[in-house]
Amino acid sequence: MEKIYSRPESMAKIVSGYCPGCMHGTITKIAAQALDELGLRGKAVCVLPVGCGTIGVRYWNVDRIGSAHGRAPAVATGVKRVHPESLVFTYQGDGDLASIGMSEIMHAANRGENIVVIFVNNSTYGMTGGQMAPTTLVGMKATTAPNGRDPETEGYPMHMAELIANLKSPVFSGRFAVNTPANINKTKAAIKKAFKNQMEGKGGFSFIEILSNCPTNWGLAPLATLDFIENNTMKEFPLGVFKEV
Ligand code: SF4
Repeated sequence: MEKIYSRPESMAKIVSGYCPGCMHGTITKIAAQALDELGLRGKAVCVLPVGCGTIGVRYWNVDRIGSAHGRAPAVATGVKRVHPESLVFTYQGDGDLASIGMSEIMHAANRGENIVVIFVNNSTYGMTGGQMAPTTLVGMKATTAPNGRDPETEGYPMHMAELIANLKSPVFSGRFAVNTPANINKTKAAIKKAFKNQMEGKGGFSFIEILSNCPTNWGLAPLATLDFIENNTMKEFPLGVFKEV
C-alpha cells in the first residue's frame, strides 16, 4: 500500500503545478515508478521539449535536458549515441510531437534510434491556451477552431502510433490511456517494458502514445474528462499495440 501511494524516488519532492485533475501528474508518476522498480534512476536521462510536459522538468528526479519545441527526439538521439549506457526517453505532448516536431519524430523513428518516446495525446495545445492540435477530434472546439475541427479545412486527426508502426525500424508502437485504473496499469506496464528492453539491448525505437485529458482547455470537470476519453477520444484513437518486434 505504502509503495503505491508514496512518492517514487525518481520524482522530485515538490508540489505539482499541473492544473487540478490533469493526468500529466499520473503519467509522470507511473513512469517514475517504473524507473524506481527497474533500479534505473541513476541511468535515466529525460529529454523534455516545450509544452505542459515541460513543466515536468521540475518534477523528475533524474538527469534531464531541455530541447527546443518538437526537437526532443533529435536531442535524445545525440544523448543516447554519446551515452549508450544511459536510459534515454522523451516526454512530449501532441502539439509538440505531432505538429512542430513531426519531422524529428518521424526521422528518429525511421532511423530506429534506441530511445523511448512517451507521447501524451490530450487533443489540444494545453500550455499555450487550447489551440487546435493535429490530434484534435473532428468537431471538437479549440481557440483556433471556434466552430469545431472541420476536416474540410483542417484535415483529420493524426494517428501517430499507427504512422510510426508503419515504418520498418521501430520495435514497438502502441496506444494506451490513463482514464481508468486498469488502463493506467497497462500504460505503466508498457513504459516499464520499453525501459527494460532498451537497457537489456532488446530495444530500438519504442513509441508509447497515451490518451490523456486537459480539464482546463476542454472546459470540463476532471471526472467528465475521463468519460470524454472513453466515449469520444477512444472512438477516434483505438487502444492497442500496432507493432511489436
Ligand atoms: S493546461 Fe491542460 S494539459 Fe496543461 S497542465 Fe493544465 S490541464 Fe494539464
